[in-house]
Amino acid sequence: MRQVLTYRVPGDLTWKESVFQKEYADVMHIVATPTLLESLSEGCWWIKAPIVTIGSVLEGIFGKGWSSPRAQMKQFLAVSSALEELWGESVSTSERKLIFSFKKNRKEIIYTLRILCELRLMDSIESGTEEEELLVKLWGKVKDQFELRDWEAVLLKKEGAFEKVLVDIFKDMGTPSELEKHNIFDEAFQSDRSVVKSLQKKKLILHGFYFITPIQEYLFKILEEKYELVFLNLYNEDYPATFRIVEEFLQKGKWTWQPSFNEPGYRIHPLAASLLLGFEGEEVSARKKDVTVHRFTDLTEFIRKEKSRREASDKPFEHVVTSRGGQAREQLYYSDLLVKKNHSLLEYPIGRFLFTLHGIIHEKKNPEDGESRYYEAVTPESMKTLFSSGYLVYKNPENGQTINMKSYLKELEMLLPYFSLGDGYIQGKEKNEPAIEEWIVKIDEIIEEKLSWNQEGIPDSRVHRLHSRPFEQLSYFKLGIEDLNVVKKGFLAVKEMGEDLFGSQSELNITGYIKKLKKYTEAPLDAEIIREEKEVIHGLLKQMDELTEDELTFRVSDISQGLRYFLTSGLPSEKDDESEKIDRLGGLYLGDGIPFKSNRDIHLAFADHKSLPSIVKYKLWPLSSKTEERLIEHRPELGLFRVHSRFAGSMNRYLLYAMFSSADNVRISFVEDLNEETGLRLAAYFKMIGLEGETTSVKADKHKANLIEAVAPSMDFSNWSEMMEEEWKLCKKRAIFSYILNDYSSFQEDFHQRNIFSGLLWEAHNVFGDWENAYNSIEALFPQYSSEYKKFVKKQNMKKKNRRYKIKYHKVEDYEYATVVRTSRLLGMLKENDDTSEQKGSIASPGYNCRFCPHLNICAEGVYPKDGR
Ligand code: SF4
Repeated sequence: MRQVLTYRVPGDLTWKESVFQKEYADVMHIVATPTLLESLSEGCWWIKAPIVTIGSVLEGIFGKGWSSPRAQMKQFLAVSSALEELWGESVSTSERKLIFSFKKNRKEIIYTLRILCELRLMDSIESGTEEEELLVKLWGKVKDQFELRDWEAVLLKKEGAFEKVLVDIFKDMGTPSELEKHNIFDEAFQSDRSVVKSLQKKKLILHGFYFITPIQEYLFKILEEKYELVFLNLYNEDYPATFRIVEEFLQKGKWTWQPSFNEPGYRIHPLAASLLLGFEGEEVSARKKDVTVHRFTDLTEFIRKEKSRREASDKPFEHVVTSRGGQAREQLYYSDLLVKKNHSLLEYPIGRFLFTLHGIIHEKKNPEDGESRYYEAVTPESMKTLFSSGYLVYKNPENGQTINMKSYLKELEMLLPYFSLGDGYIQGKEKNEPAIEEWIVKIDEIIEEKLSWNQEGIPDSRVHRLHSRPFEQLSYFKLGIEDLNVVKKGFLAVKEMGEDLFGSQSELNITGYIKKLKKYTEAPLDAEIIREEKEVIHGLLKQMDELTEDELTFRVSDISQGLRYFLTSGLPSEKDDESEKIDRLGGLYLGDGIPFKSNRDIHLAFADHKSLPSIVKYKLWPLSSKTEERLIEHRPELGLFRVHSRFAGSMNRYLLYAMFSSADNVRISFVEDLNEETGLRLAAYFKMIGLEGETTSVKADKHKANLIEAVAPSMDFSNWSEMMEEEWKLCKKRAIFSYILNDYSSFQEDFHQRNIFSGLLWEAHNVFGDWENAYNSIEALFPQYSSEYKKFVKKQNMKKKNRRYKIKYHKVEDYEYATVVRTSRLLGMLKENDDTSEQKGSIASPGYNCRFCPHLNICAEGVYPKDGR
């Protein structure tokens, strides 16, 4: 038996005369999401019974043997071994190709197997398609690792079974503070009494189930045999377009629906009111004073501006919510702007370090002959992750000195362009994935090249040095030999770790392997590791210890993949919530808990037209839709995935409303160019109610302007070289930046390096007088480009009218420099600011030249016309 109790604002529930207070406040409260639990626990005096999430209830019902990361890793390894067996038994190329695709999608396979097991449907799968046939074969081999007790029978037949599950969940929590978050006070033993008391009325409050998953519905059907299920949800029947998802999942028309409020009046945030009307198709305009919409050019600007806003504000902390995941969130997290609560191990340097380290061994399978071989490959990206983690340390065996490679990250980045392989360098290798030995050979090449350059008679000044070393404009040639040798040691340390962990064996014992692995998780520079990271390491080591309880043996590639799988799972948070002290970053789904928060200042970030509405699709790969339909006949609950997809739009509207309705303050922002995506616009939901992004276009940064004004008058321009003067004419600010930084321009962007290649080719042609010699003299210095590309550039240049060339020398102190490198320098278009006046001001000349400026990312006025609109 079910019924639905609705509320429009949280005040409806706390109102002492409301139906909720009169009849259900003392009934066990099961909430749909952890965010709702967290919000309720901030001040749930009005609930007089324990609160628990549906996720914990399901975990309790299935047991630890099913839900723990360890159990899931074992399943992953079992699936991997079974696929290996199937590969060995396979007879045809097409079969092997299919096995290979299963291997690549192990995560999806495990997701499907687990859901089908939980819904007790696994044995109903039949071999309709080739993929399903393979799935059935695979199932035959891994069944034992997917054993799940007959939880349905236990709940239905065993008296007090559900009550026991709940009591055990709270007993496992152990600490009083954890119990308090679940509305259980006094001593831990009280949990028994609280649970028993809250179940006496034989009712359960199910709060916030605006959509229901198949497994939840399956459980509810069993529970309603013994309990009355009272769904409690935000709802307002005047706005069906927003609340359609609630009506659908809570089956309006089938069950009794009643409001829990008695008071007719309620107040919602004006933005939510405008949105509600807009969603219903009414023409409405939000008042500008009710909400600010910020438009940022890119993520760097977002971070910078948001940080200064926080510093300047007396109410700096707010809930930052976004429907964008992935890279954007990670960058915010690493920029220290925001903190996310539920961490995955991969969000910590240690997790990323181990994940990357386990990605250096690859297996290549040949579907034609069934052969497989191992190879070790490192991408530039993975090298960067290893270096930046803080866990990659080189120990000098001679003097015991250690170098943490974290301090050589910048050097590594400068070196990386040299490793973006064009064709013809390492035959038969996948692009960008050379073996470590090959990386080392290439570093040695650079050292050799640098040694061959004449080092005599070069003053320290940046201007002079660049005259003599035009190649140092390429970042990888700017590195000193000593730095190159240290970076090389970092590569050797990775190699040593790989050999130690994986060796030459094809199979490993998990206990021995974990033992070795643990030594790499010990923080090398203890003092540098933040407290939070230490807790993570502690948790990780504890979980690793659990893995060693099994004397299992696995193939090298499977164990590394398995560990990568294990690392993507979350860590339980044991810390007390300091939510009012730090900004929290969360997904749109946080919206359901926000009405109950004590701080309801909200910032909806990255609300661009591609991120909203956000759609989550459920796919049971590799089941065909025909099979899915047949399974739905067996277990109708499975059909809820389809309902969810159908109502995705309504889900977004519901969450936006939930989030804004009880808000105190709202800000919305979007970023126009975000990582790979450009030209992003404000989401249609907000345009619909007449909102536009206020540009936050870059204005001169006062601090920098002052700095330059302070420096410029004291500069001695008397011995500036001709080239420095040229830079001055191009952009005064650029010249002063270079002067202040006492550095010469060096470029690591591919765009710049291609221009340098073209410029140097011309200069070499001017020196040698013919294209063939010019080409041969410089092409090897650009291994990142294919020979086709380089020849193409040569041809393009050959077509150009020969530049007038007359060798000129410029004298500085006792040295004479050829001005031949002028065209190879990325000065841009000189005529833009042809100011020859003696008065040295500090005015920036943003324009086309900024794209070649090494200071673009620190210059407030700089523009990048390529992306300008
Ligand atoms: S980015 Fe543009 S405006 Fe800024 S210093 Fe460089 S050239 Fe000048």
